[in-house]
Amino acid sequence: MDFMLTEEQKMIKASARAFMEGEIIPIVGEYEQKYRPLPKEIAIEVMKKLVPLGYIGGLVPEDGGGEGMDYVSYAILTEELARAWGSLTVMTIVDAAAGPLDLYYSGSEEQKAKYLPPALSGDLICSGAISEPNVGSGTRDIETTAKVDGDYYIINGTKEWITNGGVSDFYSVTLYTDRAKGAQGVSRIIVDANECKLAIRELPKLGLRCCPTAEVVFDNCRVPRKNLLDQEGVGYEATMKLLLTPRALLGVMGTGLAQAAIDEAVKYALERKQFGRIIAKFQLVQQMIAEMVVETKAARLLCYEATQLLGKGERCFKECSGAKFYGTEVAVRVCSKAMEVLGAYGISEEYPLERYFRDARTLLPPDGTNQIQRLIVGREVLGVSAFV
Ligand SMILES: Cc1cc2nc3c(=O)[nH]c(=O)nc-3n(C[C@H](O)[C@H](O)[C@H](O)COP(=O)(O)OP(=O)(O)OC[C@H]3O[C@@H](n4cnc5c(N)ncnc54)[C@H](O)[C@@H]3O)c2cc1C
Repeated sequence: MDFMLTEEQKMIKASARAFMEGEIIPIVGEYEQKYRPLPKEIAIEVMKKLVPLGYIGGLVPEDGGGEGMDYVSYAILTEELARAWGSLTVMTIVDAAAGPLDLYYSGSEEQKAKYLPPALSGDLICSGAISEPNVGSGTRDIETTAKVDGDYYIINGTKEWITNGGVSDFYSVTLYTDRAKGAQGVSRIIVDANECKLAIRELPKLGLRCCPTAEVVFDNCRVPRKNLLDQEGVGYEATMKLLLTPRALLGVMGTGLAQAAIDEAVKYALERKQFGRIIAKFQLVQQMIAEMVVETKAARLLCYEATQLLGKGERCFKECSGAKFYGTEVAVRVCSKAMEVLGAYGISEEYPLERYFRDARTLLPPDGTNQIQRLIVGREVLGVSAFV
């Protein structure tokens, strides 16, 4: 693996950092206090700001209207956004993967014509709906169904913990079209929130508070059959494949939160004086900073490897799962240590560290818990699965 950034990647990092310092970081504190979660008009306003940098269409090839960026460059963008604002990062990761990227690879020409341009311009917000009240890790047991009725599907079921739920216009819903066929009866159908009335209940949570996370109820929701993504019966495999990119990017997000915590701790350690000297001079403080920096770098390198392999289209379940569990757990450890460097101020709501810590901890369950990620790594190494 080539782990040195190219000159172009260094420029992407520098311009994303400058954009975040100028446009995003100044609004985060106020928005996180005021909105739980962001209302739709504000969500669209902030997400549209990210479009010119490539956050929404970066991974979509140019012939689909995207930027055709390499995956490591996209990871660099994601880390810089996460260093600025965790909530917006999760919203963007899910929106870009469940919307433009999935549409480009799985959408019909008609679906692409209708949804791809507004998804790429940030006018349409997207969600991927897999989890349910009774089903998290065991995706094959989902209870949501679609029954054919002439040219329509009638969808019934409840999806839980749906990122962007409530502000989304577009839900890619994983469900059964034929339960008797087991995993071969799983399909994915686009539900357009503007064409079908959905019951939404926001689920308040520990961190990522500006990011909408909702229960979405489909009650006899009537959807045209042409909204089927791919073909019937390939939805399970497609869902598992689709989850790989956001999985690796959640690890990347962990490195961004960890970096934000390091930057805050370093600044504080150089200013705060105790016993007549800056606390940066104490060896135990230096030990904490050193461990934080090394762990974050290790996580970042794992994430670069995973995203590089994703970009090459190589099999990389092991790398994406490793990047996710290691990156998110490093974020929790590093944010916690950074809080120690700040003493009591570490837990103060007047400093951003407590938010970084809450956001980092909230990242552990999505896209497969970290236990499931370990089982995927185990399966790839041992050739036997502990959970299927
Ligand atoms: C912030 C956030 C955003 C989310 N966004 C989305 C979204 O956009 N779309 C979506 O569909 N879902 C989303 N989710 C849901 C997420 O994917 C699920 O939480 C996750 O898959 C785990 O499911 P669960 O929470 O029901 O836990 P469960 O599956 O019930 O697991 C409970 C515990 O049992 C363990 N466990 C389960 N099975 C096994 C096993 N075989 N071996 C060992 N341990 C096991 C788990 O690791 C965990 O510790 C989101 C969740 C969060 C917190």
